[in-house]
Amino acid sequence: MLFNNSYNKLPEDFFQRINPIPVKNPQLITFNTKLGKRLGIEKKSNEQLAKIFSGNALIKGSSPIALAYAGHQFGYFVNQLGDGRAVLLGEISTPNNIRYDIQLKGSGQTKFSRQGDGRSPLGPVIREYLISESMNSLRVPTTRSLAAVTTGEEVIRETKLPGGVLTRVAESHIRVGTFEYFAAQNKIDNLHKLADYTINRHFQDIKDSSNKYLSLLEVVCEKQIQLVTKWMGVGFIHGVMNTDNTSIVGETIDYGPCAFMDEYDPAAVFSSIDTHGRYAYGNQPLIAQWNMTCFANCLIPLIDNKIQKAQEKAQEVINNFPKKMNDSLMKVMCKKVGLDFKKSDSDKVIKKLLQLMHSNQSDFTLTFSSLSKVINDEDSSVFLRQFKENKKITEWLIEWKKNIKKQKLSSKEVLKILRSSNPNFIPRNHLIENAITLATKDNDFTEMKKLLSILTKPYSNQSSNKDYMRSPKPEEKVSQTFCGT
Ligand code: AMP
Ligand code: MG
Repeated sequence: MLFNNSYNKLPEDFFQRINPIPVKNPQLITFNTKLGKRLGIEKKSNEQLAKIFSGNALIKGSSPIALAYAGHQFGYFVNQLGDGRAVLLGEISTPNNIRYDIQLKGSGQTKFSRQGDGRSPLGPVIREYLISESMNSLRVPTTRSLAAVTTGEEVIRETKLPGGVLTRVAESHIRVGTFEYFAAQNKIDNLHKLADYTINRHFQDIKDSSNKYLSLLEVVCEKQIQLVTKWMGVGFIHGVMNTDNTSIVGETIDYGPCAFMDEYDPAAVFSSIDTHGRYAYGNQPLIAQWNMTCFANCLIPLIDNKIQKAQEKAQEVINNFPKKMNDSLMKVMCKKVGLDFKKSDSDKVIKKLLQLMHSNQSDFTLTFSSLSKVINDEDSSVFLRQFKENKKITEWLIEWKKNIKKQKLSSKEVLKILRSSNPNFIPRNHLIENAITLATKDNDFTEMKKLLSILTKPYSNQSSNKDYMRSPKPEEKVSQTFCGT
């Protein structure tokens, strides 16, 4: 592994230099061979991989650091969070010149741990591995999972649980909260350095723009819009959209109490700690704007020497956010029914469908994925089964087909759009829970691995895996998810 580190060359108050704390008996659960190859990691034995990705062996060139950051959690500012149970081993540059962070999560205490033990139970490790890899296959920008190991140690939560370490790969771990950390301390010099580092690492295109810090705000807003609309398109609820979990490059980060909804409901919330539904499915576009306002506030001193001028410029970017978000969202949703959002009636058609799905408690994924069978005159039963209001959905189907015809695309083209916009397999909560239970109780990872192989081909038919497509039976339903850290 060839490390090429850069973040550790920033001033010392950006991080703490600290090695991962070794664990008792590391055993490899799984290693992401394909991703490893892309990162240029040579073949190694399972024993070597377990040592490296538990933090028991440090590879040449790594220079572990725990990153400092702050953040707004559920709307309230916390001036110091930071990597309390993670360390960045270093950065790898791939042959196509993208730099990736390699981070261990669950690697022991750091100065940012506060009261925490710096460790992670196995459950959240499996959860993140499965959901992040599934998200990647669903073409949603995300951090990736490179490896998962068991530690041979127990961690104490409500009960004793087996411990694990996840290796996370990210384009970077810079968050809105990283900017907030320095802005809150009024360390403008560091803020400047962070902004320049971010532009240099991620946004070379804006390097020469006339006001590059204003451009930074614009481009980060754009990335958030792209990200959140993709979440909406697959029915994903992040669950903790705090600013410390808002990645600057627009990757999904921090798979805590996240969930995929089964029945469509804009108010869907799964996280046990989100009592007011701040991070409900339908609130996510608005929260993304709230988070970008926090980011804009941090950049004020960099945008213009005159505060009022800087505020006006930043405000304009924020004011443009809702329309851009809405357009992007409509584009994604219209595509799910094979319609071009620019056509005048497309938004009416999709809005009507969503309204019927809501009142009929239709399964989000099955409703959309079964549309390709309807258009193909194959079989409408799965689609129709999602609705109790038979007459209304039949009327909708007529209207929908009329609009499809107006587009003058061949039926083959429509089918292609529908199939590529609507996955068959998503990480449903009951499937994830089942894999975690088996792993945690019996140290049995067969279900995790089977699920992983299914979820990484979400658009394929996989007729032998139909049971992984269906919605949960009443007794299988998971109504709450937990941070579980
Ligand atoms: P999260 O909920 O993952 O966004 O984490 C919020 C903050 O709590 C971050 O600063 C984490 O590093 C810290 N944290 C979470 N779990 C632990 C733990 N087990 N030990 C130490 N710090 C933790
Ligand atoms: Mg976090």
